[in-house]
Amino acid sequence: MSKALAHLSAARLSAALLLAFVVTAALSAWPGRLAPELPPVFWMPAGISLATLLLMGRLGVLLCFVGNLMVGWAHYRVAPDGNQAWLLPLLATLDTGQAWLAATQWRRRELKGHRPLLQRPRELIFFWGQVCALPSLMVLLPALLAMTTGGAARPPMEEIGLICLEYVTGNILGMLLIAPCLVLWRDRRRWSLHRRAERWWWPPQLLLVILIVTLVLHGTALVLLFPVLLATTIYYRLPGVTLSLLLIAVTLTLVTAHGGGPFDQDTVHLHFLHLHLFLFSVSLTLQYMAFGQEQLLEYQRELKHDVALRTRELRKANERLAEMATTDELTGVANRREWQRHSAEAMMLARRTDEPLSVLMLDLDHFKMINDTYGHLIGDLVLRAVCHACEGALRATDHFGRWGGEEFAVLLPNTAGLEAAQVAEKLRAAAAAAWVDHNERRVQVTISVGATTLQPDDTTLDDLIKRADDALYAAKRAGRNRVVIAPPPPGSGDD
Ligand code: GH3
Ligand code: MG
Ligand code: MG
Repeated sequence: MSKALAHLSAARLSAALLLAFVVTAALSAWPGRLAPELPPVFWMPAGISLATLLLMGRLGVLLCFVGNLMVGWAHYRVAPDGNQAWLLPLLATLDTGQAWLAATQWRRRELKGHRPLLQRPRELIFFWGQVCALPSLMVLLPALLAMTTGGAARPPMEEIGLICLEYVTGNILGMLLIAPCLVLWRDRRRWSLHRRAERWWWPPQLLLVILIVTLVLHGTALVLLFPVLLATTIYYRLPGVTLSLLLIAVTLTLVTAHGGGPFDQDTVHLHFLHLHLFLFSVSLTLQYMAFGQEQLLEYQRELKHDVALRTRELRKANERLAEMATTDELTGVANRREWQRHSAEAMMLARRTDEPLSVLMLDLDHFKMINDTYGHLIGDLVLRAVCHACEGALRATDHFGRWGGEEFAVLLPNTAGLEAAQVAEKLRAAAAAAWVDHNERRVQVTISVGATTLQPDDTTLDDLIKRADDALYAAKRAGRNRVVIAPPPPGSGDD
């Protein structure tokens, strides 16, 4: 709560709270003024006292006392001749004590749960039971004092119990309806009403609540409130519920004080007791729903965030998998499967467009010796260096892949026999020039290359590979570090 205070100076907050004391006390005592035999019903200053202590800490105790003193002086029925003036500080102390008890419960719960109170529906039972109801019992003492020693006519004995109960329920309601305002302010970032439709509907819906409340002069119309309040809870969550409940509580209290209202009872005190019970159950029900709705939205947000995160991770994993499935780990060039898939497609295209296509097979010469002499790690580096050199010597449209071990395959689209031989020669020279530094010595290898070009009789890629492979072995046999072009197959017309 203190964080929320950071940008609001203590002086401004104190002034605002004192103003809240005055306004809420006037609203709460108003019905009492209309019907002089009534105690101040639905005592909102009890909620303001709680808010003061929660917001201002120790300084709040003093402010709470001053606020309650002001309010008591203005509204408690202390004898006008000043004979009972000593009662006012006592009453203010008791009111402050009640707020202190409520605030202590609140803070203790927050400390225990390591989170702000009133964010989850299940905290409501603690809130109304231990924060609102238990401390409100303290009001019994000022109630009895006000009734037995106050300036107004003492009520008959049988009514005293009823009036005391009324004081308690009035105080509970005061806290039950004002504390959510504090929560609204504390968690104000959570309640932004983004959706255009919701913003647009907000004033008409409030008007509807007011209209129905004014209609509720007869008990039967009361039920009309429920669908509207339900919609308010779902669309406007806690802000909507809090505002509507305050509106309903004040209006119904005024109507009841005027002798109207939905509760047709024998005495005015029973009237108010029924009203309080109604307000209490409606408030709790709607607050439960509002917090439940909020929790649901929060879960939904978390779930969306989770799904988005997982989808991103999954996409990355899929990309990595696809890369692993198509790339050779050591050299980073296409693996055999990928090279074959790509080359088979290129071959089909070359056939359709009647364009030339050549394949080269490469093998590192005496590579086993490199491994045996310098070790496998240096062998790996040499393999990489040769790959890198060959890739650098090729065009972007050529396709280089690892066939297996120290053998590589190259697809040359749009390239015919002589040109393929030139590319092969370029590769041979590039590989021969590649080297790896080992103990200040250059480790180098040469490659042998077999080359062949697509012939009209070739049916599959394997035909080309087979011919290039034969040519490669011919190059090996002829002494290595050379290029051999495969002779055209018999009957192809080129011989
Ligand atoms: P030739 O000139 O006849 O091709 O002789 P060669 O020694 O290159 O051929 P041979 O088939 O006898 O040996 C190939 C060697 O390549 C054996 C194998 O250990 C090595 N080799 C295959 N793949 C790798 C690899 O990924 N890393 C390393 N370091 N060596 C590899
Ligand atoms: Mg070899
Ligand atoms: Mg080999």
